[in-house]
Amino acid sequence: MTDMNPSKDTLKEYDLRHTGCRADILQSFQNNNHALSHGDLEALFGQRFDRVTIYRTLKTFVEKGIVHKVLDDEGGTKYALCRVSECSHENHHHDHVHFKCLVCGNTTCIESVHIPTINLPEGYKRTEVNMLVQGTCPACV
Ligand SMILES: [Zn+2]
Ligand SMILES: [Zn+2]
Ligand SMILES: [Zn+2]
Repeated sequence: MTDMNPSKDTLKEYDLRHTGCRADILQSFQNNNHALSHGDLEALFGQRFDRVTIYRTLKTFVEKGIVHKVLDDEGGTKYALCRVSECSHENHHHDHVHFKCLVCGNTTCIESVHIPTINLPEGYKRTEVNMLVQGTCPACV
């Protein structure tokens, strides 16, 4: 990669003011190919940014279509980078499966596997669908 500061460009692209916290958090999403939780980011940046700032940054990123929520097991929420091919500010939805490795604990987006269409009984209105598959990832087999 020739671009030395990809996160700065991405922030500009999404019309976000560049702050240290935004740049650092975005960079860590770009450097990891698995989802990160608020706790993961706090462990990484807790010394430099308070938890409210980290929380707000995640919220902004979700609203802008930069990251999406990944429901993890045990009620936890993680966040993963959106693919430019899949998401924009206006069109921010995900129909791919997430995979959680029970050995290393990493949760990854499997963009090539789509969640099948789910037909709900009358009266139920879907706003979001999540599918988490658990098992062993290629790195841990
Ligand atoms: Zn998205
Ligand atoms: Zn693994
Ligand atoms: Zn995903």
